[in-house]
Amino acid sequence: MDCRKKYETIVGLEVHVQLDTRSKAYCSDANLFGQSPNTCISPISMGYPGTLPKVNQEVIKHAIKLGLALNCDITKYNLYARKNYFYPDLPKGYQITQDETPICTGGHITINRLKKIEKRIALTRIHMEEDAGKSIHDLDPFHSLIDFNRAGVPLLEIVSEPEIKSSEEAYQYLYEVRKLVRHIGVSNGNMEEGSLRCDANISVRPKGEKKLRNRVEVKNINSLKNVMKAIELEVERQINCYENGEEVSQETRNYNAHNNTTTVLRTKEDAHDYRYFPEPDIPPLIIDKEFINTIKADMPMLPEELYNQYTKQYKLSDYDANCLIDEKELAEMFNRIIQDTQSYKTVANLIMGPIKSYLNEHSLLVKEFTIDSKYIAELAEMIDDNKISHLIVSQKLFPEMVKNQQSPNEIAKQYGWIQEDDTNVIEKYVQQVIDKYPKKVQEYQNGNKNLLGLFMGEIMKATKGKLNPKSINQILQKKLKK
Ligand code: MN
Repeated sequence: MDCRKKYETIVGLEVHVQLDTRSKAYCSDANLFGQSPNTCISPISMGYPGTLPKVNQEVIKHAIKLGLALNCDITKYNLYARKNYFYPDLPKGYQITQDETPICTGGHITINRLKKIEKRIALTRIHMEEDAGKSIHDLDPFHSLIDFNRAGVPLLEIVSEPEIKSSEEAYQYLYEVRKLVRHIGVSNGNMEEGSLRCDANISVRPKGEKKLRNRVEVKNINSLKNVMKAIELEVERQINCYENGEEVSQETRNYNAHNNTTTVLRTKEDAHDYRYFPEPDIPPLIIDKEFINTIKADMPMLPEELYNQYTKQYKLSDYDANCLIDEKELAEMFNRIIQDTQSYKTVANLIMGPIKSYLNEHSLLVKEFTIDSKYIAELAEMIDDNKISHLIVSQKLFPEMVKNQQSPNEIAKQYGWIQEDDTNVIEKYVQQVIDKYPKKVQEYQNGNKNLLGLFMGEIMKATKGKLNPKSINQILQKKLKK
């Protein structure tokens, strides 16, 4: 028997979400990614003696927004705390964070919605904190470089209960977090830019055992795929330890994406003592019901609510609904277009078909798409009314719309692309093809049904795709029966 099957995996995740605010958490430095090193700094973010931090209200709003979206309780009486440690990219020598009074407690994240095996992962807490600067070890052969632009950038840390039972569940969890923070607009959720960073607390135990065994914290996981890889690697390592009669020591390991390994960062003996204490420079923050209500009133539709609306009200399939919701901008585009039409399914098809391929081909973002949404609505109705074939839409009409910013009806009329659905015309072409291939017709009638494709192809070619294929098919089958 595979010895791995004897064990159960237990994972808790800590996710740091970098917030999309204009300025930093405790000063007015710009919060911008990709600027020249050490240009978004000030005496406050550099921790000069005598400077005083000031709370950024946007950070509190974002924290409450995320908490509400995740069904958390919002803490009324909040204290800020100092977490002390020495590191070259931490100029103050401490981070301003929250210790005993995190702004959000409880709540949950639902995973595996599409697979119909929904599971709730409970959250322990969400607290506000600030980022450190960035040490760069691979640019200069002799020196480490430090960029302080990130020092003081606001973060929310989401801590889950150890309820994640596989690498796949961890992936789903992180995927849901990313989707949610994007939808509610608190972060761009871009893992490659470090806007979402994940540490995983991993342990294994023989199935049936009640007590948790020693856990290992794996740090620096910077992509959705890597969270799976890091967990699988660590689970394998721990099982091997136990199978060889060794213990797993409680330690912190680093995940190295380039060679897919983990290495020890520090053991329990050299664990940090952060000497948390209340931040003396920032007074307690009291959040009242009224403030929470103004944020509630401002809340956009959550992915879950959109999903229900798309599947129940607009009758989209699970798959279509999820494709649209996965990218916030696509859902927004869908919502704009359906202001002018009720051809919901066809609008979804247009977005996922020609519109997405056009964007991909030209490496454009969704927001750079220029066709007016009312023209897309009009196009969807033309398709539903059988006025135009799918082939002509994707190959001719859609490209023309991109160029011309004109009503698709007008363009189609101008080029003679409107599909004829006239039974008499179709019957004429059907008869022509029957007359042309008497032997094939015989074969078809003797049971070779594959020949239908040949007849269809001939007619489509002769009519340049201007006739409605559905009607051709019906009339053809009827005529061939005789
Ligand atoms: Mn943290």
